[in-house]
Amino acid sequence: MKKAVTWISVVAVIIFVIDWGVMGFKLLDHNYDIVVEAYLGLVCFLILFACAVFGLFMKRCPHCGKLRVTKGKYCPYCGKEI
Ligand SMILES: [Zn+2]
Repeated sequence: MKKAVTWISVVAVIIFVIDWGVMGFKLLDHNYDIVVEAYLGLVCFLILFACAVFGLFMKRCPHCGKLRVTKGKYCPYCGKEI
């Protein structure tokens, strides 16, 4: 599951960069018809934001596999260092 989130965020970053590139070229070309690009950029941003939130809250302990809610150095379940 976490791997999928990582891949989704990587794809979102790539699309985001390309999208901004396209938007930049259009603006340089005095073409202000960038509604699609703007929405695509917004969607990518929201996906990235969701992935970041998901990553923050869904980190699992590598030792026992339980969800770590806290950002502490040690797992609250098995007490091992993360
Ligand atoms: Zn643990």
